[in-house]
Amino acid sequence: MSNDYPVVTHLYVHVPFCVRRCSYCDFSIAIRKRIPAQEYIGTILNELTRVGSPGEVDTIYFGGGTPSLLPPDAIGRLLRELLPRTTYDAPRTIEVTLEANPEDVTPEHAQAWLAAGINRVSLGAQSFDDAVLKWMHRSHDAARIGAAVHALRGAGIENISLDLIFALPDELQRDWERDLDMALALRPAHLSLYGLTVEPRTPLDRWISRGATHAPEEERYADEYLFAHRRLMADGLFFYEVSNASLPGFRSQHNSAYWSGQPYVGLGPAAHSFDGTTRRWNLRAWEAYRRAIAEGRSAIESEEKLTEDQRETERTYLALRRAEGLAATPHCRPLPPIAALVRAGWLYEHAGRLKCTPEGWLRLDSLVNELAMHTETQQ
Ligand code: SF4
Repeated sequence: MSNDYPVVTHLYVHVPFCVRRCSYCDFSIAIRKRIPAQEYIGTILNELTRVGSPGEVDTIYFGGGTPSLLPPDAIGRLLRELLPRTTYDAPRTIEVTLEANPEDVTPEHAQAWLAAGINRVSLGAQSFDDAVLKWMHRSHDAARIGAAVHALRGAGIENISLDLIFALPDELQRDWERDLDMALALRPAHLSLYGLTVEPRTPLDRWISRGATHAPEEERYADEYLFAHRRLMADGLFFYEVSNASLPGFRSQHNSAYWSGQPYVGLGPAAHSFDGTTRRWNLRAWEAYRRAIAEGRSAIESEEKLTEDQRETERTYLALRRAEGLAATPHCRPLPPIAALVRAGWLYEHAGRLKCTPEGWLRLDSLVNELAMHTETQQ
């Protein structure tokens, strides 16, 4: 057995299966009516044997695809194999997240997930408008979202996150304020907000090419993003990252590890791993990944060793996307570009750190490029 990775504490497991493709989605997925659960688990465990056991872990995240399509007993078996016995027997001491689509959440599934060790569920809600959900090719309607949240709470899972997509094309006439109100009425501990992007070769991309719809407008993106900040903060949710807000004590520990540059291991097709200096990613397609593992080959498609300059830029980017911000060193503080960014209302300094305002988060990439040229980063 080779050991391709150092001992890590954060484990991501990619479950690639979906029943259909959403209109905006370019993720690595395999459309299946029947999920090949046993074959999938066997392949993941073979990959685990190949890369070496991660030992004790702090967080596990089942992402997709649609992990909630896996039968609960398959999730339980995976967790028993992925975690050392001592950790599995006390699963509440580590964060174990399952991404779920609302239509898969029943009281029975919720209870079985909790018994298997899942203690955090991230629900792909996206909108509470049935016409919008249909346009997105989602399989659920708005009523299912509330039913899913109640089923999870009823089973004892309180750490619930909702994903919402904003900045939709004008012609949908989506009422963003109403959607936020409906989401907040369910009292989620965490919300993730993503602006719609048009990815190549998605159904949305094709609709736009033939003039059936239009790309979302930048002005709508900014207006809805800033409105969400005001609305969520009024309800006690704090934006701890550019796209993520939570009640106190409910930050995603797994994603926070990514955003603070910690190492992680990813299993499954398209999964990424990072050891602090080198990023590796697996074959993207389920079939290619499955075949490589079945034939005893590595599933790694490629890797990239970051140069010191790249790591510096990445440190700046990761620091600024989080509420904690970037250490404002005496060296960087008097630089004219930083003063200009503060005057523009995009950055502010607090307790020795440079932080983004919501307006700054709207233009994070250009801020990072500006700062990367002028700062020494310290985290
Ligand atoms: S459920 Fe998620 S992963 Fe699957 S097609 Fe829709 S957006 Fe993509």
